Amino acid sequence: MNIYYIIAFFILGTILGSFYNVVGFRLPKDESILKPAHSYCDNCKHQLGFTSLIPIFSYLFQGGKCKYCKAKISLFYPFIELLTGALFAVSYYSFGFTPDLFISLALVSLFSIVIVSDLNYLMIPDEVTLITGLVIAISIFFRDHLEVLLKSLGSGILLFVIMYGIMLLGDFLFKRESLGGADIKLMFIAGLVLGPILGVFVIFVSSVVALPVSILLYTINKEKVIPFGPFIVFSILLLFFLKVDVSRLLGIFIQ
Ligand SMILES: [Zn+2]
Repeated sequence: MNIYYIIAFFILGTILGSFYNVVGFRLPKDESILKPAHSYCDNCKHQLGFTSLIPIFSYLFQGGKCKYCKAKISLFYPFIELLTGALFAVSYYSFGFTPDLFISLALVSLFSIVIVSDLNYLMIPDEVTLITGLVIAISIFFRDHLEVLLKSLGSGILLFVIMYGIMLLGDFLFKRESLGGADIKLMFIAGLVLGPILGVFVIFVSSVVALPVSILLYTINKEKVIPFGPFIVFSILLLFFLKVDVSRLLGIFIQ
């Protein structure tokens, strides 16, 4: 395991994380994600001037303030960059240069964008889920060839249908919208990556993780609506990392 590659993946992750901030903030508002290329200051609309290669460093050099109007820049931006960088490094450390690395990087990217868009707008752009699914499908093809890919796609559709059924039932029982459409599309990704059995586990794991976080957010911020999307993607990522161990533990054959 080469330490330089781990550092390189960390840096790549922070640079892409900066882009995922832009994607997560602008796609839901139908704004261009290419122009302007960087995030801009909410106060004076100047570009944040993340001109150096590593965005987090420029945040630190500028003391967390906008160069132009000195308004404070939200810690949210560098947080997403740092998170993406760290998870990119962990991905390379865990999988090396294998097709699983690309699945992991796609999931991390989805995770970062979903945090930004779901937390700020309570929505997840379909394009993002679609591109993630495509990258994962191609990686599965190169890892296992066509037969496994078809099975994986089948698992994805199965989980999508199951969640859709749960949503209809929930809407009927509670007389209000219980699950978002975007959450159901994320379950397709869960089935695709994890297969049908571990895929179902995503529902349990994300609920277990969401509960304490929701209570915490409610006590701190009085946040009433807490998006479920980030918890689903986090659980897919977690189970993907632990896939072999969990399967062995439960006596499940993988795919
Ligand atoms: Zn400013």
